[in-house]
Amino acid sequence: MKRTTKDTKDTKDTKEEEKEVSLLILGGTGDASELAAIAYTIPNLKVKVSLAGRTSQPGEVPGIVRIGGFGGIDGLINYLRTEQIDLLIDATHPFASQISWNAAAAVKEVGIPSLMLIRPAWEKNKGDNWIEVESVETAANILPSLSKRVFLTIGRQQLAPFANLDNIWFLMRAIDPPSPGIPLPSGKLILARGPFSLQDEKKLLLEYEIDTIVSKNSGGGATYAKIIAARELGIKVVMVQRAVMPEGEKTACVEDAMAWLVSKLGVY
Ligand code: NAP
Repeated sequence: MKRTTKDTKDTKDTKEEEKEVSLLILGGTGDASELAAIAYTIPNLKVKVSLAGRTSQPGEVPGIVRIGGFGGIDGLINYLRTEQIDLLIDATHPFASQISWNAAAAVKEVGIPSLMLIRPAWEKNKGDNWIEVESVETAANILPSLSKRVFLTIGRQQLAPFANLDNIWFLMRAIDPPSPGIPLPSGKLILARGPFSLQDEKKLLLEYEIDTIVSKNSGGGATYAKIIAARELGIKVVMVQRAVMPEGEKTACVEDAMAWLVSKLGVY
């Protein structure tokens, strides 16, 4: 399935390339990889996946993978033109809003069709005890009045706001270790990549006597078990809400994104 990785050149001959349509998927999520795997099977569609390069060992991604920032809106415009991208699907994480705003501005300037693939946010269910906050910083501000032992599951990039909360013990979970030199909350760091099972999440919460989870409202199934576990164990969840996303066509699942893609390919 995998054509090549970390390579910007395709192997098809020039004659065939002339007929190809180029799709750029902005990735960094399981949905992006899944979409790339399906899109890759469409003949004459050149699939490029862009990753920010945050994780040291990204999961397997089909298609042609490029890694690293574009250099803001202008850099992305330049990339879209240079690489002659025909279609763009922004399948980045719902909390990666900067790249989504950049992409929305860039596709407008270049004049190519685009789609945002965004998992729906989790909805509060009966039995959930959520405190919804607008940012990670607000979560850190309110924790001292709520909690003593916290499961901090917001990744590794925004741990610093919790570092001075001396009266709280933190269990932190991330895929990669935090960058050296950034202040960390006191507690324990575990490195793990989802999906996580309900049974394991419950075990973790009980073992470390967690009274509060801090989570981003990421949506999707891979990390939802901790939310169910909190519900079943009567644990509070400080839920960080999503930022406003740019205007534009949006879908909630890979299947719908594929339908959009196929409809656009009919045009070419
Ligand atoms: P962000 O704040 O929206 O983006 C910051 C900068 O990183 C962007 O301006 C862009 O740099 C670069 N960038 C982001 N995504 C990129 C991509 N797919 N390809 C190339 N460059 C990209 O993003 P973030 O929150 O740091 O997240 C970085 C990546 O991790 C995203 O791709 C996202 O899907 C993934 N991720 C994020 C979270 C989260 O909670 N934020 C969780 C899981 C996965 P330039 O301006 O130089 O182009």
